[in-house]
Amino acid sequence: MLERSVDRRRGGHRSRPNVVKAHLDAIATAAKRLLEPPITLPYPDYMEARPPGYRGVILFHYEKCIGCSLCAQICPARAIKMYRVPGDKRLRPGYNVGRCIFCGLCVDICPVDALSESLVHDKVYEDVPSMDMDPVDWALWSRRVMDEERSPEKPLLRARLDPERGIVYEEAQPASSGGEG
Ligand code: SF4
Ligand code: SF4
Repeated sequence: MLERSVDRRRGGHRSRPNVVKAHLDAIATAAKRLLEPPITLPYPDYMEARPPGYRGVILFHYEKCIGCSLCAQICPARAIKMYRVPGDKRLRPGYNVGRCIFCGLCVDICPVDALSESLVHDKVYEDVPSMDMDPVDWALWSRRVMDEERSPEKPLLRARLDPERGIVYEEAQPASSGGEG
């Protein structure tokens, strides 16, 4: 911008870009890339293998929970709230995955490891209310997520940076999030 105004004041000319050549260059580049293997993950035919320590949706292990409410108190997004469950004397936590920011504080503070981080993030929900789970729904949903982790429906690929070819994807084995089996 500055250069252009300086040129105008001096009455100078700027060379015009060769538009035709620029288009031809762009087409040639696209044609060249068409012959090369893609460097992006072929999602959703394949899934990306998540590295250890990845923070996905939070899993709830009902049978370990002592109902202390610490998880609900520490959650900065108010994604966890305590519920009364019929037949259970203690309050138990429910989880709104739509509010969760995956900070992991609830997992860290739980004194009995009743919460864990999964390796799953990209889940689909029927509607907004179905993202808000009571303790029983959360525990059942957590079991399904753990099953998915152990036996993913799609092959897993892991990205690696190759000095010659750039990003390459290699087959990977399912990993465990450390959730209860
Ligand atoms: S991971 Fe963070 S935001 Fe999500 S439920 Fe736990 S404390 Fe709340
Ligand atoms: S912190 Fe752990 S034990 Fe306490 S209510 Fe939450 S899940 Fe249950």
